[in-house]
Parts: sequence; structure tokens; C-alpha cells
Amino acid sequence: MSYIGILEYVIGVIHDKDIWYYVGETDSEGKKLKPKDQYSSFLVDAKRYDDEDILREELESLPKTLTYKILEIQRCPKCKKEFTEHPALSREDNETEICPECGVREAMEAYCNYTNAK
Ligand SMILES: [Zn+2]
Repeated sequence: MSYIGILEYVIGVIHDKDIWYYVGETDSEGKKLKPKDQYSSFLVDAKRYDDEDILREELESLPKTLTYKILEIQRCPKCKKEFTEHPALSREDNETEICPECGVREAMEAYCNYTNAK
């Protein structure tokens, strides 16, 4: 099965106003991580799931004291960066979904072109 635009899933943990990512219980060598090391603010550290059912199963086993969110990793067709935030719509064709950073950049460029043309 292939997902268009969606590559994989990660577990997000709501931490104050930020989102942290669930790294997993063990590191790459299989050593058990301390609870505070099981979460990271960087998406690159996040444990990835290509099956949402497996993710949900693992989610069930996590401490209920935290608030979790299932995040979809998407790849921006413009800058090729991975992101989990809500995508922005490209101004170029009004249908391509791009990352929020590129969305802001396109809006800035559109504004600059508009003011330069005056
Ligand atoms: Zn982008």
C-alpha cells in the first residue's frame, strides 16, 4: 500500500505549548531509555511507524498521564523537508500542499513582487 504525500506516522506528545516526539522505549542498540529520554523535540529522533494500527497499539501501552497526538510525516515537494504540521496550499497552483515555512515564503515573495511592481 502506498500513501500519497504521507510517508510515515510518529507519536507527538503535547508538552505545554510544544509538541515533542516519542522516541521509543529503547535506543538503536536496544538499551532501555530513561523516561525523560523517550521524548525529543526533534522530528529526526522520533520513532516512525508505517502502519497506523501498530502505532495505536503502542500508544495504548504509553503512560496515560501525557497527551498524545498521531502525526503524519509529509515531505514538502518544494524544499524536500519533512514536516508534521498542517500543510499550506501553494500559491503557484492552489492545490499542491507544501510545508508551512514554504507557505510563508511564498506569501512573502508574492508580497515583494506586488510592492516591487508598483
Ligand atoms: Zn517546504
